Order: sequence, then C-alpha cells, then structure tokens
Amino acid sequence: MTTELVLLGTAGAPMPVAGRGGISSALVVDERVFVIDCGRGSPSAFVEAGLEFPKLEAVFLTHLHADHIGDLPGLLLYGWGVRVGDNGPLAPIRVYGPSRPAPVPAGDALFHRETTIHPERPVPGASDLVDAILAGYAYHLNVMPLDARMPDAGALVRGIDISLPARAEGPTQTPVLVFADDVVRVTAVAVTHGHAVPALAYRFDTADGSVVFSGDTTVNDDLIALAQGADILVHQVADLGYLERHGITGVALERMAGLHTDVSQVGGVAERAGARELILSHYLPAEPDAITPADWAKRAGQGFSGTTTAGHDGLRRVLATP
Ligand SMILES: [Zn+2]
Repeated sequence: MTTELVLLGTAGAPMPVAGRGGISSALVVDERVFVIDCGRGSPSAFVEAGLEFPKLEAVFLTHLHADHIGDLPGLLLYGWGVRVGDNGPLAPIRVYGPSRPAPVPAGDALFHRETTIHPERPVPGASDLVDAILAGYAYHLNVMPLDARMPDAGALVRGIDISLPARAEGPTQTPVLVFADDVVRVTAVAVTHGHAVPALAYRFDTADGSVVFSGDTTVNDDLIALAQGADILVHQVADLGYLERHGITGVALERMAGLHTDVSQVGGVAERAGARELILSHYLPAEPDAITPADWAKRAGQGFSGTTTAGHDGLRRVLATP
C-alpha cells in the first residue's frame, strides 16, 4: 500500500490571491481519499491532482473560518452525480470538524460585534454547517434529480462533530480518536487560534507512516505532542514581521500573533516534535511573489534538524511501507 500527501492549496487567510489556492490538502491511502480543509479552489485542485470524486471518503475541517471551509459545498455537490456504485449510492462523505464551542467565544471592546448573525445559532459546529449547506442547496438537491439521474441526495454526506473534553490538568492533552479502521487512524487535539475555539490539528497514521496537519495555531505543546515522530508535519506559517511592515501594527499585530505561528518559530516546533520533514503551507502573506520559497524554507528551517520544504500547490509526497 501507499499513503500519498497532496497539497491542493497553500494560501492562508480568506482574501483570494493570484497564483495560490486556498488552504486544502489531501491524503490518499491506497485508493481512498481524505481531504483536510476545503479552502478556495479545493474542488478544482482536487481534479487537477488527478483525484476522483467517487473515491472521496471523508473531509476533516480544522476549524470553521471561511478560508478553511469556503469550498466545502462545491467539494460535496459538484461530484454528487458520480457518487454511485453498482449497488446504489456510495457511502456518504463524512465531514468531521469541531463541534459547537462551549462556551461561546466572547467579544471584547476592541473587536466588538455590531451585529450578531443568526443569533439563534451564532456559532454552529461542523454538523450544523453540513445541515446548513444541505438546506441552502435544497433546490439543487431536490430539483436536479427531476432532470438528471442522480444518486439519493440523502446519502450524499454526514456531518460529524468532534467534541473535545475540557482540557485536563497535566502536561498535554490526550488526543481524541476521530476515526480508525484496519488501515487508517485519525486523532486530533485542540490547538490555539485566537477566538476560533475549538480549532483542531489532525494526525493520520497508516502502515506507511504518519502525517500531521497543524491547522492554524500558535506554538502549541499539544500539537507538538501529537506530532511526535511524524514522518511529515504540514505546518502553517506566517511572517509577522512582513505583516507589520505592511501596515498590520499594534493591537492588530498582537491579535495576529495570537492566531499564527511565526516563521521564526516553526522550525522549533518541528524539532521538538522530532518530525522527519516539515512541509510549509497556509502562507501568510499568501501572495507567491511576496517571499520566495527558498526564503520561506531557509527561515522556517532554523533550529530544525530534519528536512524543511516550502510547500506549493500540487506538491506530492509518497510514504510507502518498506
Ligand atoms: Zn486559516
């Protein structure tokens, strides 16, 4: 068997940029496809990478910011017509992600809310998101089958909330088991991404090796524990100094530092995790010409004794059982 990582998109933050797709990655375990986050362009990048919609088994959302979930509807709906086998609809695509937060993230005097959107359910979780997508696209799901042969829409998708226990006393959290069978085991921990609570990091283990996705986080001991000995650590990266030089200063910069791991810190994270390869993704700034790949890799690799690679859209890595 083989386990293959494909970076579908590597941009951080919601604003579209030319030349780099929104954050999204795929892990292909033999023929089974797992997608981690579905940022801008994820469905197109999925086919560009040669992946097939009938093979899409599950989606794992790190958190519910738009840059990580914006193209989830497309990923579910564009390939709906081919989600059928010899014996009827394929098994539903499972969408795993954070549950509703408890308690609700509080506002503050600096970034207060003037309007609360959907006050009856202001902080939906992953399964709420899936329900809302189905509700919003009900016209397509109900009417299109009148004109074209479509699999049962009721079998298209299942949203599954990941509930994390309250953080226990002790040095690190125990990862929660998200999903496991004879081939793949997925575990998760909560990471630290400003007010985006819960935000998750995921670890995938197969017989071929292990791949960890940091999600968006500051330096986080629980992520470092989750990533111990990983073959590949796909980690977000931000250049806070660049952002400061481009007008993000004062409180806004402090906020940014509470959301992301700076390029000067990423190598230390990978070193403490004992990862074999650090692959950078979710770039901030996202513009490809802002900072060269060589510069990203050189700066991020400081303090890391393994291999540091500046990830790019379409990058692939194969892990194979020796
Ligand atoms: Zn993000």
